[in-house]
Parts: sequence; C-alpha cells; structure tokens
Amino acid sequence: MSDKSKSIHKFDFKLICEYYSSLERQGPGSPEVTIKALSFIDNLTYESRIADIGCGTGGQTMVMAYHIQGHITGIDLFPTFIDLFNMNANKLNLQDRINGIVGSMDNLPFQHEELDLIWSEGAIYNIGFERGLNEWRKFLKTGGHIAVSEASWFTEERPVEIDEFWKDAYPEIDTISNKVAQMQKAGYIPIASFVLPENCWTEHFYSPQVSAQENFLKKYAGNKTAEELIANQRHEAELYYKYKDFYGYVFYIGKKI
Ligand code: SAH
Repeated sequence: MSDKSKSIHKFDFKLICEYYSSLERQGPGSPEVTIKALSFIDNLTYESRIADIGCGTGGQTMVMAYHIQGHITGIDLFPTFIDLFNMNANKLNLQDRINGIVGSMDNLPFQHEELDLIWSEGAIYNIGFERGLNEWRKFLKTGGHIAVSEASWFTEERPVEIDEFWKDAYPEIDTISNKVAQMQKAGYIPIASFVLPENCWTEHFYSPQVSAQENFLKKYAGNKTAEELIANQRHEAELYYKYKDFYGYVFYIGKKI
C-alpha cells in the first residue's frame, strides 16, 4: 500500500468514525428490544461477568446496565467509540459496573469460561455469525448465554436487487431457520429468536441519520469521500424501505451446553 493510499484510508476511517459518533446507535435496535432479549436470560447476579462485543458508543450497554446485575465490559475496535462509551458510563454514574476497552472480536481478552453472558448487537457480522458463535463459546461458562442480533432473510425467495446487495455486503445473511440451526450446531440450545420491529431501523437508526447527514455534508462540502459515504448510507436506507418485507435484524439467544 502506498503512503498516499494509506493516508486516504486513514481519512476514510476517521470520517466514518466521526459520522457514526454523532449517532446514539451505530446499528438497528432499541431499548425495548434490548430489554426483551434480556428477558430470556436468567441467573445473572452482581457477580456475573458480561461482555458486549462491538459495543459502539454503548447505547444498548447502558440499557443493559439498568436492567441486569453484574459487570459489563464493552469492546470495540474504534477508540473514538470507546472514549464516548466511557464518557457515557461516567455521565450515568455507571463507571463501577461498566467499562469500555479497545479490542478486536477475533482476539478477545477473556479467560476460558469466564463469562456468564456474551452480548453483541449488530456487530457479529464483522467476524461472521458462525465463526463468532464458535470462537466465542469457549469464553462462556457452561449454562452461560449468548445473545446476538444479525441480518437475516425473512423468506426463502426475494427480489434480485436486494439479494445481490446483501450477497455483496454480507454473504452470510441467511434465513432465520438456518441461523438457528447454526447456533445449535455451534453448541448452544437455541432459547429464543425474534424479529426486531421496524422502528429499530426507522425511528432508532435511519431517522436520526437524516439530520446527521445534512450536518456532515455541510461540514465536508465538496469532499468526495464524505459525499460517497453519505450516498451509501442513503442508498442502504432506501433499499430498507423498499424491501423490508424480505429482510431485517433478528435477535438470536442461545445457552451454552
Ligand atoms: N452494538 C452497537 C454498534 C453496532 S455497529 C449498536 O448496536 O449500536 C458495529 C460495531 O462493531 C461498530 O461499533 C464497529 O466499530 C465494531 N467493530 C467492527 N469490527 C470490529 C472488530 N473486529 N472487533 C470489535 N468491534 C468491531
């Protein structure tokens, strides 16, 4: 990689970080859905150890902290997100029960059988659903839970345009029944799976982006990379509104056996 392309790459990374840092969530979800997913998980105490992988700025982590006992470690690859995560935890006076660390989901800093719960909203796709379920399992105690949300097909067949978009963006997208089977094969009892309601995409994810996009384009007027980034986000949102009957996010909850 030449120095020039390296610096462009760095700039992309910085821009993407800045854009997403201005949002409360970095993926589709809502407090109600986090609470619903938590309702399938029992036996957590103040001694429980929980990891939130790909936590972003921690929108869902703070909700979790209010509803369960135990200590939560948030992990994300982007230092900017972790800074905001820890600032948010401090603001809410949750710093004793939550801490954010920079790290990668393919090299987690936990001991074998250390965790009671692994959580990951809209992030496991970065390592791949099956790989994540398989590799993360060793960090869970027997009887511990995993809860992840993941893009999934609602139907066996779908229009070519959206099929091609996802096969390019994330080829591991699959039907709910196949994902549940993968969870079972990876050594978990599939406790529950449920489709995230549309407002997780509309109200909580795409709507807040409308004004964030306008501000971003104003700030970076004439910057091609910024314009492309926003054009991509807008295209993704348009596809969602057009094809939301065919795909969405699904929460998958499993128990290690
Ligand atoms: N859970 C948050 C963020 C989801 S977006 C929410 O629901 O709002 C996906 C997150 O995964 C981003 O914050 C991104 O920085 C993080 N990520 C991407 N690759 C990663 C990796 N290899 N290890 C850890 N985090 C990663």
